Amino acid sequence: MTHSWLFTGPPGSGRSVAARAFAAALQCDRPGETGCGECEGCRTVMLGSHPDVTVVATNETFIRVDRARELALAAASRPAMGKWRVIIIEDADRLNEQAADALLKTLEEPPPRTVWLLCAPTLDDLIVTVRSRCRHVRLGTPPVDAVAELLIVRDGIDPAMAHYAARAAQSHIGIAKRLATNEDARGRRRRLISIPVKLSSLGAALDSAADLVEEATAGAENTSGQDASEARAELLRQLGADPHARTQPPAVRSHLRTLEDDQKRQARRRQHDTLDAALTDLSSMYRDALVLGTGAQVDPVNASELEQIRTLAKAMSSEELLGALETIALARQRLIANGAPLLVMEAMMVGLILPRARSGARG
Ligand SMILES: [Zn+2]
Repeated sequence: MTHSWLFTGPPGSGRSVAARAFAAALQCDRPGETGCGECEGCRTVMLGSHPDVTVVATNETFIRVDRARELALAAASRPAMGKWRVIIIEDADRLNEQAADALLKTLEEPPPRTVWLLCAPTLDDLIVTVRSRCRHVRLGTPPVDAVAELLIVRDGIDPAMAHYAARAAQSHIGIAKRLATNEDARGRRRRLISIPVKLSSLGAALDSAADLVEEATAGAENTSGQDASEARAELLRQLGADPHARTQPPAVRSHLRTLEDDQKRQARRRQHDTLDAALTDLSSMYRDALVLGTGAQVDPVNASELEQIRTLAKAMSSEELLGALETIALARQRLIANGAPLLVMEAMMVGLILPRARSGARG
C-alpha cells in the first residue's frame, strides 16, 4: 500500500471527511471489513479521539516548522492500539517551505505502520517536493441537485430554499446549510452580490471596500472575543494563577502574551477566510453576467437576481467582465500574500468601477 496520500478538491468537496473515512477504514476493528462505521475503531476515528490518529486542523495561516517536526516524530512511533499510525493534515497547503522540508523524509519513506493523509484545494497549492511524494486522490464538487437533496433529506429544509442555497453556495455543503438556515447569512450575501451594479463612482468603491472589511473584522472578533476570555481563564487555571489578580507574575505574563499572539493570528485568519468567501460570491455575479452575454445554456449561480445580472451584462462587455474576474482573482492572491485587507479591497473595488462611470469621470 502507498503510505503517503494527498486528497484534493474545492472547498466543500469533503476532503477532510474523505481523509477521516480512509483513516477509519484502516483502523476498523471488524475483521474483513474496511470501515464499517460502527465499531469502536471507526467511531473514535470519526470523532477525532482515536489515539493513533492525529488530525492537524490549523486555525493559523501557516503550519510552522516546529509543528512539522512534532509530526515527523509522531510518525516515527508505532501505533499504540490500532493497526496503523495515521496522520491527517487538513490544510497541507499551509505548510510553509521549512515545515514541508521537515516532512520530506518521512513522507518519502514512512515507517511500515505509518500512513500520511494530506488534504489541499488543488495540487498547485502544495510545494512540489511534497506533492511528488504522495499518491493523489482528486475529489470533485458534487452537483447542485445532490447538495440540495442532502439539505432536504438530512436537514429537513424546504426544497425551494434547499435549491436556492445549494446553487448560491456553488455546492459548498457547509455554506449551503448556513444560507438555508440563517437569515442573516442570506442578507449578507444579498448585500454583497448587489455591489457590482452599484460601483458607479470612486466614493461607492471605497465605501464598499470599507463595509466589506468591517463586516469581516466584526465577524472574526465576535467569535474570537468569546473564545479569547475563556481560553485566558483556562490558561490561568492551568498555571494555578489567580484570575482576578491585578498584575500577574512575569512567567504567567509571558504565557499570556503567547496566548494573545496566537489569538490575534487566529482572528486574522478568520477575517481572511470571510473575505475569501465574499470574493467567491462577488465573482459569481460577473460569471453569471458573462454566461448570460454569451448565451450559453448554463444555469446562473444567482438565479434570484436576474435583474441585476442583466444590468451588469449590459453595462460591461465580455472582455470587461473577464477583466473583473481577474481583478478579483488578483485581490485573492494579495490577501493570501498577507496584503493589508483594506488596501487590497480598495484596489479591487476601484478596479471594478463600472466602465461607463470610469470613462465619464475621465471625460
Ligand atoms: Zn469499523
